[in-house]
Amino acid sequence: MMGLNLHLFKTKSMIIPKEPVLSAEQLAQIIAIVTEYNCQIQTVAGHHRNVYAVLGEERSTEMVNRILGLDYIDRFDAVDSPFKLMDIKSELSNHKIILGNHILGNGSFVIAGHCTIDPKNPNLFIETAHAVKEAGAKAIRGGVWKPRTMPYSFQGDDASIKILMEARAQTGLPVDTEVMDEHQLRIAVEAGVDILQVGARNALNYSLLKNIGHLTQNKKIAVLLKRSMGMGPINEFIAAAEYIAAAGNPDIILCPRGTSPTMDGYRNYPDESITPLLKEKTWAPVIVDPCHSVGRAKYVPSAALAAMAYGADGVIIETHLDPQRGIGDDPKQSIKPAILKQLISDIEAIWEIKNRTVTA
Ligand code: PEP
Ligand code: MN
Repeated sequence: MMGLNLHLFKTKSMIIPKEPVLSAEQLAQIIAIVTEYNCQIQTVAGHHRNVYAVLGEERSTEMVNRILGLDYIDRFDAVDSPFKLMDIKSELSNHKIILGNHILGNGSFVIAGHCTIDPKNPNLFIETAHAVKEAGAKAIRGGVWKPRTMPYSFQGDDASIKILMEARAQTGLPVDTEVMDEHQLRIAVEAGVDILQVGARNALNYSLLKNIGHLTQNKKIAVLLKRSMGMGPINEFIAAAEYIAAAGNPDIILCPRGTSPTMDGYRNYPDESITPLLKEKTWAPVIVDPCHSVGRAKYVPSAALAAMAYGADGVIIETHLDPQRGIGDDPKQSIKPAILKQLISDIEAIWEIKNRTVTA
């Protein structure tokens, strides 16, 4: 399995305390012990409890026994899975991600907005932001920086972060943008972006994943991890999420967005059908991106509904007030706010069907 370094996870151990969180004194005591064995502690803050990853050569029986001997420790490395944090059976299995006033998994969650913010036309983005809110979207997307196939195409602009944050201030909705390197990551975190998108091209960029996990730790910033177009095994996708969690931030949303080779006529090969498989293996919420998958506005609503029927927690939809005046992907795959409004109402109907209680 190329690119899937399961060995890394097999040698990672977790300390699970009896109480949800270690006190400062207890943590200091544990750090003092592991330091003697040249290890470090990485705290991973979950919604209900913290887990404490041991980094380094952590298999010393003596060290493990000393930690297990502490009366406030429950277990050492309980998860029999390469995904110590992302596995559905991990200590984080009840972890919830909160965005705005929504808990992911409680009702459908739609993120909508431009593929790309045009820094020359900030008002257009702000108007779209209001329109998608009115249509029922729960978060706003807007590309500040863009991964473009050609180096001569518009690459985004640091200045657009202000436009994104203005949309947040005016609508009160959380905002999402993609970051591709540490420079962009720092700007986005400092500005207060709510959702950091890792694009399909960077889903296997382990250094970036680690940096993101590290820099967003305890900042209540979620990471929307796209599935890379070349990603085969589902485990490779979950392993990428594990990198972010192991670096300190378990607020990860998995986002299938189509793979290659493409399906004739579509931009990529639609992959919303992996949703139930992901949900069997991991507790992470799934938000599907049907736009980059089918690649044409006219196919987007049915692909979005299919994703919801497969059990997704939501979708991310490129939406533009006037797609023809858009840049990046907007002219070809953005839908208009009126279509989004209808789509969200249909999504809610599917959500009701999927979540109804069947009584005998
Ligand atoms: C995008 O969301 O605009 C984007 C570039 O997505 P992806 O990384 O899935 O291609
Ligand atoms: Mn796009």
